Amino acid sequence: MRIVQKYGGSSVADVPRIKGVAARVASARQAGHEVVVVVSAMGNTTNELLALARQLSASPGRRELDMLLSVGERVTMALLAMALQELGVSARSFTGSQSGIITDTAHSSARVVEVRPERIEAALQAGEVVIVAGFQGVSRDREVTTLGRGGSDTTAVVLAAALRADECELCSDVDGIWSADPRTVPSAVKLDELSLDEALAMARNGSRILFEEAVAWAHREGIQLRASRTEGGGSGSVVRPGAAPRPSRARAVVRDSELLFAPIGVLSGLEVPCVRAAGPWGAVLDARNLHTPVPAAVQVATVAVVGAGIGASPEWVQSALAAAEVSLAEPPIGWWSSADAVVLVVKSSAAASLERHLHFSFVERSGNSEESCSDSS
Ligand code: ASP
Ligand code: MG
Repeated sequence: MRIVQKYGGSSVADVPRIKGVAARVASARQAGHEVVVVVSAMGNTTNELLALARQLSASPGRRELDMLLSVGERVTMALLAMALQELGVSARSFTGSQSGIITDTAHSSARVVEVRPERIEAALQAGEVVIVAGFQGVSRDREVTTLGRGGSDTTAVVLAAALRADECELCSDVDGIWSADPRTVPSAVKLDELSLDEALAMARNGSRILFEEAVAWAHREGIQLRASRTEGGGSGSVVRPGAAPRPSRARAVVRDSELLFAPIGVLSGLEVPCVRAAGPWGAVLDARNLHTPVPAAVQVATVAVVGAGIGASPEWVQSALAAAEVSLAEPPIGWWSSADAVVLVVKSSAAASLERHLHFSFVERSGNSEESCSDSS
């Protein structure tokens, strides 16, 4: 088999963990597989690099930011290659550019437009494990670009597609994909299986578990994904191509707490990327990729109920709004719905309790949770 494995920042946070990842990769290689490994920056490195930039400028230029942030993943790739070589496994690391990941020119949230993995192919043919720096590519203008915070997932999926890999495994410190964040919602359950439609709806509406562009790419190319925990086992989640097996049920509640709300009018005349949604009430901006101050913006969160078809039903939308009224002292700042989600914009301080409330009302009480599915089968 040919497999792509991606390791997130917490899985490679220090040298002992990098050694652990090397052992995990080595065992896949020793089982006879061809292995391509995509790595994130170690631990909190990307934030530390950003903090350095902010000491110099409130609004650093995006080209130089990409030059800076792309370094994080390069550190990991070289260290992991060394760790594998120490285990007697031949390994070679490549940057995004060397891997043939060609993007558009949108610095700090570039889109992949083409993948030409000739060097990776050659290294695999030569029996090497290939380590790729995630989160980065090169534009047609030959500039280094980055794919947006969380973008290493995209590197893994586009490579899995271009290399016709049999498996694309995304490894982190969480065992799979959950019906809500188990740190805020203790009754959340792991979703053993979900469709790419459902995963895409989760990613689009603020789940940080899988990166939106990565899921969108997997969706287009029909690539099955597996979300696994690096250390400590667990069965993970499988994300299968195609539609949800049982439409019209709430699968998950997702919360996105790294957002800014700008009242209507503030953005006119400003060149602001990262607009997640805009309505008559104002605009919601993705704070993680903004890299520039926006006057009068306040921190907000979105909490969304996600499930195939639910946002298309007016009754669902009405009951989600009613549930928010019941659980919040102040009404939501705004809301919107799409075919597969109802999204409420609230003050950051209200987000966790709303997440619990919506999970209870829609995922648990409706008997749609994983546990009750398996109970009845
Ligand atoms: N290191 C980047 C980030 O922190 C990319 C990634 O981890 O996927 O966002
Ligand atoms: Mg991630």
